[in-house]
Amino acid sequence: MPDSRRFTHIDEGFVCAVCGQDVPPLRYTARNHCRKCLCSLHVDINPGDRLNTCGGVLRPVGIEKGKKALRIVSRCDKCGTTVRNITAQDDDYDVILTLSARGAYENMGTM
Ligand SMILES: [Zn+2]
Ligand SMILES: [Zn+2]
Repeated sequence: MPDSRRFTHIDEGFVCAVCGQDVPPLRYTARNHCRKCLCSLHVDINPGDRLNTCGGVLRPVGIEKGKKALRIVSRCDKCGTTVRNITAQDDDYDVILTLSARGAYENMGTM
């Protein structure tokens, strides 16, 4: 088996490059997006590896219902890649609701 699905556990706080929110470490899992605007930077190939040189802003475009948790569907400003992130416990729920209300990803057959 090639080591192609590495999940590096990096849980670190950061200042959001999009809205300036000071985002503390999450403690229970790796933080990968801003809790306020739900944006993140396109820096991972596999979650947490920081090996992607794109560096574009991943903007949330919708909410998808995963098996255990809601997932934020984000699209990269720069390269157009779509990325899914599991929501964190302290994510701004109003933002999640607003995205969810758009319903763009409700009927994609992932249920
Ligand atoms: Zn932010
Ligand atoms: Zn990108």
